[in-house]
Amino acid sequence: MRADRHLARRVLLSGAVGAGLLASSSSLAYVLIGWSWSWQANPMSEPFVLNAASFPSGTGSTSAVTTALRNGLERWGDDGTADFHFTDGGVGTSGDHVLRWSNTTASGGTLAVASSFGFGGRMTDCDITFYNANDGGTINWIAQTGSAPFSRVDVEQVATHEFGHCAGLDHSATTAAVMYPSYRGGNVAYRQLGQDDKNGLVAMYGTAQPSLAQVMDLELGNPVIGGDPLSITVTGANANERVTLLASILGEGDGPCRPEIGGKCVALVAPVVPVATRTANGAGTVTFTITVPAQYAGFTPGFQAVAIRGSGGANSVGSDTQAYPILSPGFSCQAGWVPDCNALCVPSSFIDDGSCDDGTTEWTSASTGFQGYSDFYCGMYNYDYGDCP
Ligand SMILES: [Zn+2]
Repeated sequence: MRADRHLARRVLLSGAVGAGLLASSSSLAYVLIGWSWSWQANPMSEPFVLNAASFPSGTGSTSAVTTALRNGLERWGDDGTADFHFTDGGVGTSGDHVLRWSNTTASGGTLAVASSFGFGGRMTDCDITFYNANDGGTINWIAQTGSAPFSRVDVEQVATHEFGHCAGLDHSATTAAVMYPSYRGGNVAYRQLGQDDKNGLVAMYGTAQPSLAQVMDLELGNPVIGGDPLSITVTGANANERVTLLASILGEGDGPCRPEIGGKCVALVAPVVPVATRTANGAGTVTFTITVPAQYAGFTPGFQAVAIRGSGGANSVGSDTQAYPILSPGFSCQAGWVPDCNALCVPSSFIDDGSCDDGTTEWTSASTGFQGYSDFYCGMYNYDYGDCP
């Protein structure tokens, strides 16, 4: 049995590698660390937390650092070629996977390190550390949209590289790859993935299947209470076509790809269940009335509608997805309050009061001290009846 290994991967300063060494770079290709997240049904769906506030203030505003780190994270898989993407865990300080700046000194020319852990080909953890200094002295990090000056080190380029390690890539000798081991000045072009990087990602995770186009609109008609009827309306279908309502008890996410819909993928997490099929009216609207089993209270199921179109389902379309926590049987809010778009009890007087409730503004109840974010901006409440701009 092989023991767990600890891997530390490095970015080196540009002076460490001679340019002439890489004349035949076109024949060189990506290298895999040997473990990845491909063993997961939804690879790397665990959130990666960005500790933007840990960077020294001279790096840039927390907002600028966040943007640089987030760009580096999202770049992996963002062209849709590979069936992989990181999950943005937001700005924070702790989590299973964290990127942070450390007020310590690294050896040699190391700027940052991605430390991954795994076993038997399976990566199970990855964290990234940016250092304050190395043998060359203090590292003058900078986070900004444009190219970094030569006196500074571009946070976004290094973040992109380190996230590549956390995806499972080792260093590539291909100069056009972001996994090239040396930092090469602050030009924004060096932040981009090369074809070599994308090929490596596809080698580990396969090619992404196309998702179902979301051209229909799906709305829940009322809060989802276990054992009670739930009304779901789909608009935007063709006149008199058959529309199937799909549900997943595990909610929204990258879902199974099915031959009936031309091999495209639904946006609900497997297992996905066809609940009912009904014929749309002449205006392309269809309403489903279903009952969500009471024993699923506490889950947050997702719903999506599909219409099979074309030979072999090649032109099939879907709706957007909606998810809602299933409330316990008999659930009710206190008098005068109703469950909002997120199943939070909110005073019903907030509806159609001229003030926008779209889930972005925190409010505090004067009578109960309750704090929350009221959200009536969904079809169930007619998008707050025009209160939002
Ligand atoms: Zn590296």
